[in-house]
Amino acid sequence: MSGFEGFPVEISPAFEGQRVRKEDMYIEFGGPNIPKKFELVRVKSLEEVEDGSVRIIGSDLLELKEGSSNPLGILIEVAGSRIDRDLEGVIERRIHMYTNYIEGIMHLNQRYDIWCRISKKSFKKGLTSLKWWGLGLIRLFKAEMPYIEKMQVTFITDPVEVEKMFEEAMKIYNERDARARGLRDEEVELFYGCVLCQSFAPTHVCVISPERVSLCGALTWFDARAAANIDPKGPNFPVPKGELLDPVRGEWSGVNETVQKRSLGAIKRVYLHSAFGYPHTSCGCFECIMFYIPEVDGFGIVDRGFKGEAVNGLSFSTMASQTGGGMQSEGFLGVGIEYMRSRKFIQADGGWNRIVWISSTLRKRIEDAIPRELKDKIPTEIEVKNIEELRKYLAEHKHPLAEKIIEKKPEAKLEAPPTPIPTPQIPVAIPQIPTPQILPSIPAVGGIKIVLQGAKIKIGKLIIKKAEGVKQ
Ligand code: SF4
Ligand code: ZN
Repeated sequence: MSGFEGFPVEISPAFEGQRVRKEDMYIEFGGPNIPKKFELVRVKSLEEVEDGSVRIIGSDLLELKEGSSNPLGILIEVAGSRIDRDLEGVIERRIHMYTNYIEGIMHLNQRYDIWCRISKKSFKKGLTSLKWWGLGLIRLFKAEMPYIEKMQVTFITDPVEVEKMFEEAMKIYNERDARARGLRDEEVELFYGCVLCQSFAPTHVCVISPERVSLCGALTWFDARAAANIDPKGPNFPVPKGELLDPVRGEWSGVNETVQKRSLGAIKRVYLHSAFGYPHTSCGCFECIMFYIPEVDGFGIVDRGFKGEAVNGLSFSTMASQTGGGMQSEGFLGVGIEYMRSRKFIQADGGWNRIVWISSTLRKRIEDAIPRELKDKIPTEIEVKNIEELRKYLAEHKHPLAEKIIEKKPEAKLEAPPTPIPTPQIPVAIPQIPTPQILPSIPAVGGIKIVLQGAKIKIGKLIIKKAEGVKQ
């Protein structure tokens, strides 16, 4: 990419999806071993932002120990005459994408959950200061989002400062999410879509409604609306709702039409509030996975931070490969944490009454969302270790599904759910999560998009002919 003369490493979209493995990393920030980390964008007045400035609070790369894991806060302050607070979440979500454009810097996840690595190779090439990361981001953001007139970046590596600002950041994320809580899907004229993740999940389209936050958790309906308004040619766009075809499952004719168009025909119908039938697609950035447990006819929910095996014996990363890649995976659903606070949370499947297990790490985050009458009825990995213990726990604690469970013998198969599941999915070529990988995808040409997921293709000869009657 031009405009990066003098940089020690290359900057290009070609690096998106890059991985820095442990043995190749010079240093890492955040990730599963570091509890406090964050990235935050704040909109300020033009006078408050010193354009192009990069500050480091704490140690820079040269002072940190090679091979170490460190806390990190990335604070980006932006200003522009056309931008307001509604855009903070949208600009913040791009940190992931643009950081990954920088050769040898891997960035995963978002908000409070970031995980970044700097490769030995890039360090040797001269990427010896966080300053380069900041300068790269400033140039990329200003080139891609021209409404950002001024931008300054602060990296915080001092553990005490990260800790202090982490609390503040969590408060701000919560305030953003809370804004959409009062609004109902029926009250707005338009939903919004996002296709930012099509770079690695080519058939994935996020539909963001007031009562369904994006599955990465980063974009509420307000955020997506602000982005679509300021940058109509960008990855966010309005989705006319059309006719309400199914109020319980959340099926709208306009959503179906838009998703079909944006997924280039791959996805034809979407239920916004069900994990069965035509569930929302999942890319790879979901904060949590809901997974169907046929033995008790309920759902477990596991979050990205959970280590070990969920009650069904599978880890987050194993289930992520069943869930992601832009496909509709019945019985597996990638969701944002805020969706669990929605009044429409999988309402077609029974909502919270259908949840039978959650990871303890997630439980801490959503204690407030669990209906009071269910608080002692949904176990975590601390209370139950396998399906047998789960069955017993649910029966003893009189979970809403308990009667059904007691009626059936353990070996007996429970009544089928409303639509056939669980459908074993063709393992998709996403991430050995949490790393999204670029799937081979041939960009749209003349309305055709070919997606090759996990395919091995041998071609002896390929002849492409122009079909008759096709106009240029
Ligand atoms: Fe956009 Fe959805 Fe990807 Fe989030 S998960 S960046 S909302 S496409
Ligand atoms: Zn994604």
